[in-house]
Formats: sequence, C-alpha cells, structure tokens
Amino acid sequence: MAGIYLHIPFCRQACYYCDFHFSTNLKTRQALLQAMQREAGLLQHYLPAGEPIETVYFGGGTPSLLDAGELGALLEQLQRLFPIAEGAEISLEANPDDLTAHKLDQLRQLGINRLSIGIQTFQEDVLKGLNRAHTAKEALQCVPLARAAGFNNLSIDLMYALPGQDEAAWQQDLAQALALKPEHISAYGLTIEPQTAFGKWTERGQMHPPGEEVGEQHYRMLVAALGRGGYQHYEVSNFCLPGYHSRHNTAYWQQKPYLGLGPGAHSYNLKSRHYTIRNNGLYIKKLEAGQLPHEREELSRQDHINEYLMTGLRTSWGVDLDYLNQQWQHPLLREHSAYIAEMLQQGQARISNNHLILTEEGRLLADEITARLFLV
Ligand code: SF4
Repeated sequence: MAGIYLHIPFCRQACYYCDFHFSTNLKTRQALLQAMQREAGLLQHYLPAGEPIETVYFGGGTPSLLDAGELGALLEQLQRLFPIAEGAEISLEANPDDLTAHKLDQLRQLGINRLSIGIQTFQEDVLKGLNRAHTAKEALQCVPLARAAGFNNLSIDLMYALPGQDEAAWQQDLAQALALKPEHISAYGLTIEPQTAFGKWTERGQMHPPGEEVGEQHYRMLVAALGRGGYQHYEVSNFCLPGYHSRHNTAYWQQKPYLGLGPGAHSYNLKSRHYTIRNNGLYIKKLEAGQLPHEREELSRQDHINEYLMTGLRTSWGVDLDYLNQQWQHPLLREHSAYIAEMLQQGQARISNNHLILTEEGRLLADEITARLFLV
C-alpha cells in the first residue's frame, strides 16, 4: 500500500505557536494549485510500481479554505495519474470556521470520507491567546454539522499545556471532546518553536509558557480520561475508538511508501526521501520551468533503523524485533541487553510477540528511550 499527502500551504491567519509551512498571502493560490498538479504529473512513477493508493491526505496549512472546485481538481488529477484503491481513506484537515453545512455537503460529494478538525480547545480566551481563526461556538458546532452531512469518521485535534489553560480548563476540554464522541482524537502538548510569535516572546521574556511538569500532568489527565472513554491509545499523541486509527499516519509509522505534493511536503519510496522546498513562490517558479523543487536524501541503513525505532516506539504495536534482525541485521535486544532489561524491570516497556512495546510510563519518556536505543 502507499499514500499521497497534499500540503496546502495557506492559512487565514498565523497561529502564534505554528511553525508549519504556510502563507497568509492567498494571491498565489491558483498558480500554486496548478503547480501541484504539475508536480503530481512529474512524480507519477515515484512510488513503487503497482502499489495501490490506500490513503490520500490533504494537510497544511488549511486545506479547508480551498473551495470544492479546487479540491475536486486536485482529486481528479490524482485519479488520472495514480491507482487510487476502492475504499481509500481520503482525509482533509479542516478548521471549524470553514465547516458550514453547505461546505460539508460539498466535501462529502467529493468523496472525502474523513475530517481531521483543528479544534485545539473549546475555551474562547485560550483560542484568542493562540490567535486561532475560529470561536469556541464554532468548535462546538462543527462536529454535529459534520455528522449531519454524513461524516462517520471524524478526528479532532486538541492542545494542552497552553498559556491560560489550567487543569480545570483542560479537564473541561477533555469532557467536551468526549461528549462529541469523535472516532479519533489527536492531542499535542504545546512546544515553543523559535521562529514563531510564541518563540520570540519567550526569548524576550515577554511570555512564560507552562513548564514541563504541566505538560506531563496534562498528558496523564489526557490518557486517563480518554482511556475511561473507551479510546485506544495507539500512538503517543493519537487515540481512537476501535477500528478508527488513522490509516494514513499509521502507514508513515509502519514505513510504507508515500508521495508528498506541495511546498513543505516530503516523500518516501523505501529507498530515499524527497524534501520539497518551503517557499511558495520558488515552488511555483520551479514547476513552471518543468523542474522538481526537491532535495533528495539517500537513506542509509542507520537512517532506516533509527527512523523505525523513532516511529515504532511511539506506537502501541512497538518495534518488531524480527523485522530489525531480518531486514537490517540489527539484533536490538542483544545490542542493548542491559538497558532493555532495566526498562522491563522499571515497567517502562514490555516484550510481546517479539515486539518491544513501551508502556504508558515508558511513553512519557519515549524521546529519551529512543535516543538511548539509536544506532550511532
Ligand atoms: S491554521 Fe494550522 S497550519 Fe495554519 S497557522 Fe494555525 S496551526 Fe498553523
């Protein structure tokens, strides 16, 4: 199986914490979408031959600010060029303020069958403090509106350890999210990135973001609340009702090939990775000249092993020790016997069916554990 990711690099306004690639200048929108179609044509044979496309994911940026005609044109181009499988998961990231009843009907008609909605929080003052474009009312209304339009596979994004979000506010967010019963919930602790407004204010001492202990406490509340709500914690930041894991993201974590289109996207074809430039103007210019705006990186054995460890240890199925041995001749248990024995003894990990799997306690330390197990 393989997937296609489309990066739509436009947003209405810049959230103060965001370091994804996007522009609030929408003037180049038409030219950029045409360039994406051109890029798809040039990369028609990038993925391993014969791989059906099981997932298509519109991410960004804010793909929901595109109109139905623009999204439909991109989908038609993909259908012309690639073997999209019957029943493919076709996801679109959406912001609540874009999701009117009419827009939701159009998205359904286009064949989009999963929405990932960027709610972040239901608290009006916290939303304002992040410079999100939507209101708390829109955050509450969008899920029932999507249900009414026929969507039966919804994910919502939440954020925690935010400025102005105390434990009571986070508990309310969790209760509200559970009351909406989405099939999937992604939740991310705030990280302060240097190039963002929050990063600059923090550096100048004008902002004091919540400390690590707040993040850890909010994470524990998240895991407990969603566990009680019947959600499976299948990746550090991702929870789902049974059967509703994100097929697209799971394929990334399981090292399946994917093609990324649009500025800021990347691609993986089992051997190498392509990074597409994070600049809308240059991206358009290059593609108008018939050139691919990519940097290519050949992946070494060490890269493959470390990426597999980094992604696999964050998931509930862990890393397959046989796969590491057979595919990469890397006997992880033997190489790190003392450290793994210590993790098992401290309840940070378990071994099941020859997979090394982190426990909830271990997942709190996932980055540190992964760094210790990396091949250097
Ligand atoms: S809407 Fe999403 S991509 Fe755009 S600025 Fe906000 S967080 Fe970033």
